[in-house]
Amino acid sequence: MEKKTYPKKLTLPKKHLLPGLLALVLLVCWMAAGCLPSTAFSRTRDFPADLSDNTTEQTEASDIHLIKGRFKSGDTASDVLGPYLSLQEIYCLEKQSRPVFSFTRFKQGQPFDISLHQDRFVAFAYDIDDRHRLVIKKEQDSYDIRKIPIQYDIREEVISVHISSSIFAAVKKAGHCTSLAGQLADIFAWDIDFAKDIQPGDRFQVLVEQRFRDDAFQGYGNILAAVFVNKGKAHKAFLFTDADGHAGYYDEKGQSLQKAFLKSPVNFSKITSYFSASRLHPILKTKRPHPGVDYAAPKNTPIKTVADGTITEIAYNNTMGRYMTIRHFNGYETSYYHMNKYAAAMKKGASVFQGDIIGYVGKTGLATGYHLCFRVEKNGHPVNPLNIPHTSATPISLSEKERFVKTIALYSEKLMTAGSLARSTP
Ligand SMILES: [Zn+2]
Repeated sequence: MEKKTYPKKLTLPKKHLLPGLLALVLLVCWMAAGCLPSTAFSRTRDFPADLSDNTTEQTEASDIHLIKGRFKSGDTASDVLGPYLSLQEIYCLEKQSRPVFSFTRFKQGQPFDISLHQDRFVAFAYDIDDRHRLVIKKEQDSYDIRKIPIQYDIREEVISVHISSSIFAAVKKAGHCTSLAGQLADIFAWDIDFAKDIQPGDRFQVLVEQRFRDDAFQGYGNILAAVFVNKGKAHKAFLFTDADGHAGYYDEKGQSLQKAFLKSPVNFSKITSYFSASRLHPILKTKRPHPGVDYAAPKNTPIKTVADGTITEIAYNNTMGRYMTIRHFNGYETSYYHMNKYAAAMKKGASVFQGDIIGYVGKTGLATGYHLCFRVEKNGHPVNPLNIPHTSATPISLSEKERFVKTIALYSEKLMTAGSLARSTP
């Protein structure tokens, strides 16, 4: 087992961060929804739910008593530290800590531990998020206060899943956390439309990092390699970090998976109406063109911009509801109708980057149910969103080719040793 610091958030170009963020949000939601224990989960050791129970979990290592707990709703520093420090001391500590971490940012549910020596306060540690930890140590007359990276044990695992209905059901049935589906959707967002392309018989295999702390599973890290067989075609992705530190996913030929347009603005939705010259309008009951694609999805499903661009219109009208239009390169424009709400900071003239969440699915305006009506125009003429061209971003440079080939050979071997999918699908 290799002990290493979990890498900082992938230094992907900005356009990659939001899909990543989405994955994180999904992860949190799904974790909250209760992801089923797999073998890895069985070792999970939970902290006591609240401080009042903590005293029962005091562990004695030499003379140090370690008290573990989690912040409860409304807990402040004095609620947690009050039993061990005077209000005056907490006040000083709060002030000293401010440049490193403000005590107003303690979050409900986050774990902490307090170390005592002969009932006297020695140290306090708090998980700021899943990457950083606040560590406060008492010194003679002051405190040593630091924000340090959380040390995880990274174990690599190969996970194979066959899809018989939905990708979520399949991942869950195989005993894994459904956040994996979100991570995969982000990796293949340019090649597979998770709204319309996934079908029974599809399957995937991933080489993924699992993060452990004190032998307890703490969630997935990076997907290092993946093979996704969709409609009989194998799509491959390999994580590679270039000499400048930019990480991205590439196919085995070194082509970036990242393309000019995402395949779909909404993951895991269902297409309910296609681009058409004439369709019966569901409310108006008249035949009229439908120059777009409708994606049905639950209320407040995130909507992502399919390419970099500038917001040219953001408004409300009785037909389109809350909508937004974004101007891209080469005369392309995309529009997103019937949103329930816009994402924060969206305004006319603002720049957006591919994969950014721009709003949330709603049914404002003339709409029968929750859906996104997605439209694309090229030089002012409607084009079918499902037919927009897919040119790739920069491939691996020649000087990095050798290192890239070695990396994917290593990952491929790990995938193949574990199962037959990668081997059987060219
Ligand atoms: Zn529509």
